[in-house]
Amino acid sequence: MNIDKIQKNISLAPYTTFKIGGPAEFLVEVKNSTELEEAVRYAVDQELPITILGGGSNVLISDKGLEGLVIINKSRGIEVGDLSSAEVPTTAPRHQAHGSEFYNTEDLTYEDGGQRKTITLDSGVPMSVAIAKSHRSGLTGLCHFAGIPGTVGGALYNNIHGSNKHFSDYFLEAEILEIENGQVTKKVVPFAYFEFGYDQSKLRNNSLGEVVVIVLTVTLSLYEGDVEAATEYANQWRKRKHVKQPWNSAGCVFKNLTPEQQQTIESVTPSWGYVTDKILGWKGKQIGGARISDLHASFIVNETGAASSYEVLELMKSVHGEFRDRFGVWLEPEINLLGFTEDETEGLLVKIAKK
Ligand SMILES: Cc1cc2nc3c(=O)[nH]c(=O)nc-3n(C[C@H](O)[C@H](O)[C@H](O)COP(=O)(O)OP(=O)(O)OC[C@H]3O[C@@H](n4cnc5c(N)ncnc54)[C@H](O)[C@@H]3O)c2cc1C
Repeated sequence: MNIDKIQKNISLAPYTTFKIGGPAEFLVEVKNSTELEEAVRYAVDQELPITILGGGSNVLISDKGLEGLVIINKSRGIEVGDLSSAEVPTTAPRHQAHGSEFYNTEDLTYEDGGQRKTITLDSGVPMSVAIAKSHRSGLTGLCHFAGIPGTVGGALYNNIHGSNKHFSDYFLEAEILEIENGQVTKKVVPFAYFEFGYDQSKLRNNSLGEVVVIVLTVTLSLYEGDVEAATEYANQWRKRKHVKQPWNSAGCVFKNLTPEQQQTIESVTPSWGYVTDKILGWKGKQIGGARISDLHASFIVNETGAASSYEVLELMKSVHGEFRDRFGVWLEPEINLLGFTEDETEGLLVKIAKK
């Protein structure tokens, strides 16, 4: 690893869509998966905590910043593979029954179909590039994720959802680094390893357990489908999302409700945006520079451009606190809170004992 490339005390705000976050103790940008692996091995040798960032579109980083090495993942390799007969399990979506409030999608359909073929993507490939490249290669499926910012690594971390599909619906295997007791092991792991669910994968345990997993490459199984129709579908989704989703945010702050939670609170939809707006009446509420978006109440935005991480956190805690007190239901944040103490996130994150 060329340690000359490592910078010290660099503000992380520009590396996030929120434009919020204090300095990284050390920061390095990697351009391919070999450099990514070298950076990880260097940090482990130096006993530095590691944080990897793709597009920074699903994180709230503390104003105090992050200790250790922050790796900005710009690995961009893509390889189209062979025909594949592998079946991929699907994850049940949490449909937005009242989704038309946010996007009118009744006229939008695209059915996956055709022979399956693999594509292997570096984890730092932006989703927009993955979609464009797959279409140019005659492969469809990723059109469901059009308009979602971020990289393949971030998509896997959160098992992103777009229309009624999850990223895992196309997932075959990944090449990863497992870090445990100061040892780095490189391996290829299958679908079952990731314990996928709605907005959920094993990678979310990175902050909890003793094993930290860094994804180098991801192999997907796509379709030799109707590229023209898939491209048109992707363009429509992108356009509609751009109008209704604010980019000075980090996506939906909380996960949508489970079917059980939806039943408990007797909501017509599992959408957290609907609950925030129509049930709690919190749309447009602001703490400091942080505001519950007027466009889409699932999102908190950096309204003034100068919001602090603590203002966003306070707004999350306040709206969640009212919801919890009123219905006795505890929701999980969808965005990743990085660099905060347990006391700071009290009332927001269920405390899980370290293994
Ligand atoms: C306007 C807007 C709209 C959005 N719409 C959607 C939507 O429709 N559906 C949806 O699901 N999400 C949505 N999101 C959320 C977000 O875009 C996705 O979760 C995205 O996949 C995050 O990717 P990223 O590269 O930006 O991840 P980052 O924010 O950089 O990282 C997120 C987490 O993943 C970890 N991570 C990243 N790369 C790796 C890796 N290689 N190995 C291990 N861990 C890694 C990071 O450490 C971090 O904990 C939206 C966000 C915005 C701002």
